[in-house]
Amino acid sequence: MKYVVVSGGVISGIGKGVLASSTGMLLKTMGLKVTSIKIDPYMNLDAGTMSPLEHGECFVLNDGGETDLDLGNYERYLNIELTRDHNITTGKMYQYVISKERKGDYLGKTVQVVPHLTNAIQDWIERISKIPVDNTGLEPDVCIIELGGTVGDIESAPFVEALRQFQFRVGKENFCLIHVSLVPVIHGEQKTKPTQAAIKDLRSLGLTPDMIAVRCSETLELPTIEKIAMFCHVEPEQVINVYDVNSTYHVPILLHEQNLLATLDKKLKLHEQCEILPNL
Ligand code: ADP
Repeated sequence: MKYVVVSGGVISGIGKGVLASSTGMLLKTMGLKVTSIKIDPYMNLDAGTMSPLEHGECFVLNDGGETDLDLGNYERYLNIELTRDHNITTGKMYQYVISKERKGDYLGKTVQVVPHLTNAIQDWIERISKIPVDNTGLEPDVCIIELGGTVGDIESAPFVEALRQFQFRVGKENFCLIHVSLVPVIHGEQKTKPTQAAIKDLRSLGLTPDMIAVRCSETLELPTIEKIAMFCHVEPEQVINVYDVNSTYHVPILLHEQNLLATLDKKLKLHEQCEILPNL
């Protein structure tokens, strides 16, 4: 099983969901079976009790699970059927750990965020990622994990730590991180400082970006890409330009044109899982 984590910096609502579903869709074109898990770092057990004015409409899954809108994106883009367990929230994880504590599963131990909550998050991801979600009924090859919120927030800290540990649990060759960031255009100039700060935050928490997906209102200029590569310590081909498009259904094409699959393949050796060798 290969894991592609999509995280975000600078601002919320930066386009992680669209990027994660588009990446999954491209992986499907390689003949891979793709599933997804959405992490929402809030204390609600699910999105059912949240105001649509604040959070957007809640998406109801076939099993009745009331979840984040992004799960709807995943089902549509990937043609899969997810369950309520594919949406992890802080509240759900705490409820799970506390109920285990009440049953006596940790008897004698002090139950802590690290390692008990972080281990529970990793176990959950490993278990849920293996559930068949398409009509083949087979275990998926790749799991896209979208980490909601912004890296560096107190809210997402246990999940960031769990994912940091998870890359060692599953092996670095099975773990790839795409960080979505923003380049604002101020007085006609593309500004890279927020992205540099976001990547610094990410690295300080022990996560290394394999790709930086840059949201920008316009196409990134070559010097901007080179500057991000230089100061964020990645190769220019690891910087993906996700500029504003009229329809988010164009995002997969945009990623394809920038060789996203080849870059992912370099890290994850995805072609070894494909029955027919893809032309990347
Ligand atoms: P997040 O998951 O980070 O909260 P979403 O994926 O839900 O963000 O996207 C936030 C908003 O930005 C949505 O309305 C989405 O349609 C829009 N969006 C995302 N990517 C693009 C893009 N490349 N061009 C135009 N709009 C986009």
